[in-house]
Amino acid sequence: DLRHVLSPGRIGRLELPHRVVMGAMHLGFEARDDDGAALAAFYAERARGGAGLMVTGGAAVSAEGAGGPGYGVLGDAAFHARLRRVTRRVHREGGLIALQLFHAGRYARPAPSGPPPVAPSAVHSRFSGREPYAMTPQRVRGTVEDFARGAALARDLGFDAVEVMGSEGYLVDQFLSPLTNLRDDEWGGDAVRRGRFGAEVTRAVRTAVGEDFPVVVRFTGIDLMDGGTPQEDVLAFARALAAAGADALNVGVGWHESPVPSVQAVVPPGVWTPFAVRVKEVVGDLPVIAGNRVNRLETAEAILAGTPIDLVSMARPFLADAGLVSAARRGRPVNVCLACNQACVDHSLTEREVSCMVNPRAGRESVPRWSVRPVRPRTVAVVGGGPAGLQAARRAALAGHRVELYEAAEALGGQFRMARQVPGKADYGGTIAYFAAELARLGVRVHLGRAIGAADLGLLRSHDGVIVASGTRPRRVDVPGADLPNVLTYPEAFARHAREGLEGRVAIVGGGGVAADLAHLLSRGHGPLGEDERFLRRHGLAAGPVPVTARTEVTLVQRGARTAGRTGRSTRWAVLAELREQGVRVLRETACLRITPAGVWIAGPDGAERLVEAETVVVAAGQVTDRAVPALAGDAGVWHRLAGGARDAEGLDAVRAFAEGFAAAAEF
Ligand code: SF4
Repeated sequence: DLRHVLSPGRIGRLELPHRVVMGAMHLGFEARDDDGAALAAFYAERARGGAGLMVTGGAAVSAEGAGGPGYGVLGDAAFHARLRRVTRRVHREGGLIALQLFHAGRYARPAPSGPPPVAPSAVHSRFSGREPYAMTPQRVRGTVEDFARGAALARDLGFDAVEVMGSEGYLVDQFLSPLTNLRDDEWGGDAVRRGRFGAEVTRAVRTAVGEDFPVVVRFTGIDLMDGGTPQEDVLAFARALAAAGADALNVGVGWHESPVPSVQAVVPPGVWTPFAVRVKEVVGDLPVIAGNRVNRLETAEAILAGTPIDLVSMARPFLADAGLVSAARRGRPVNVCLACNQACVDHSLTEREVSCMVNPRAGRESVPRWSVRPVRPRTVAVVGGGPAGLQAARRAALAGHRVELYEAAEALGGQFRMARQVPGKADYGGTIAYFAAELARLGVRVHLGRAIGAADLGLLRSHDGVIVASGTRPRRVDVPGADLPNVLTYPEAFARHAREGLEGRVAIVGGGGVAADLAHLLSRGHGPLGEDERFLRRHGLAAGPVPVTARTEVTLVQRGARTAGRTGRSTRWAVLAELREQGVRVLRETACLRITPAGVWIAGPDGAERLVEAETVVVAAGQVTDRAVPALAGDAGVWHRLAGGARDAEGLDAVRAFAEGFAAAAEF
């Protein structure tokens, strides 16, 4: 039941077809010199998919306000031409689009030749690694005018609304916060003067666009910074923004420098809603938009049905499924965003173009190789039902091929079946469910419990093509005792934990993402607290203790110095904090010498040998390519392609697996 989500909404004079707004995302191709082809294709696809009102990634109101080299800057005629193409395409698809007016302030990461960052005060930023220049009062006024000019431009370029970006620790926030605004002039000194910049920007934008053009202001409902803006100042600021002419307030959460995660998978979906509700309570009839970590329309529905919130912002879910809303309207499966950040936020933070792990077409809508066109139907066998195989089978079936999928296990999902057990990763099960439903809808014949072996050459030859996505095998450690009965591979450990719980002392040999996931799973017991309450208490946002409930004592024994070293910048710190909190012991730069029934003998960085006592030893030391099926496909002499772990286990992650599955099927 999505009754509330699918009912019409309104921002100022703008009528919205439903109550989900696609939140702003910096895509990384705003500055690409392609006449706006990529940008227009990206937004048009989402408009076609029923997105309703979309907010663009931040358009810098001045060169010094750009977040980095990949940002579009207003005032640049080529950028204007790209934006004009965007609005035309979106309107042709029946969509609505707002331009986000952006200034990074001290978060700017300019190219070496670019202008240095500016901010209310010269306070070093951990996020950008830069110390900005403090703005003169004239510069502050000039920046207010930049926002106003940007707003007028947006209206002229055909946008339906503007959103002032005032959250996540960008310039408006930097003025509001006592941490970053150390001024003592008309722009700082007390809460009212610190809030003045945001209010003046809103007022100037309103004046620039006129009374009837919709103006949304995104600001921070809680900054999650030690010593940050107190709640009463936040609420007073919300009132000031309303008085200055905002048509809606979009409530953000957290700064890029916050020590509390706000959009990572460890954050329970919907947990930030109460902070938006507080804002709604002080601004009365003014529409309030809640968001940050809302990844399913069902969560949006619960927010809209159970609180006075008017609209819900969802951003990354529109990468995972561009047709999210229309799929839900038609009762079709929805590809769920996993909050993994692996192909979106982590790309954005490292100046790469954004895409999506589960939907590699995202961000590449204008590239033919990532599109699906009907072709002459042939038959294809997909061997393997993990991420690469699922994606390949769906892509091939969409093109019209007759697809048979063979999976050795009794269920689809591959490594995602393990991942979904990990705290915060339950939605990985949603990915499996989505692909299973899609394969059924598209008529793919799925054979479970059907390993492909030497006797199947004839079967492979009976197809026009074969896509091998048979995955990997866990890497073994070559030490004495590795085959003792107290030693498990990581898939065995996940399976045993699911079956009967893995208790007592567990030593995990390995320090990569899978080892960290397993440690997270084993060390987190099922406490009496709900996920939201546990999260809020854990981060000091609700009063009360967090009971430690796990009956498993976990030690990671890792060769390297960095735990979960390949996990992305946005997420790794949050996972490590969870492990620390749950008492996981991490022994770095430590060699596993031998395994005995009593545990693991190790040699630490000092070379001293000692025993890590454990009833169970789990080897999570990576994976190797299983060459058996790829070799068979070669022997069969049919057209074939390898994807995911079957192609190369080295450095494999799910982003690559999904993308290679898609690409392999596109070649067929
Ligand atoms: Fe969501 Fe991960 Fe895709 Fe980003 S990459 S949109 S977090 S599923």
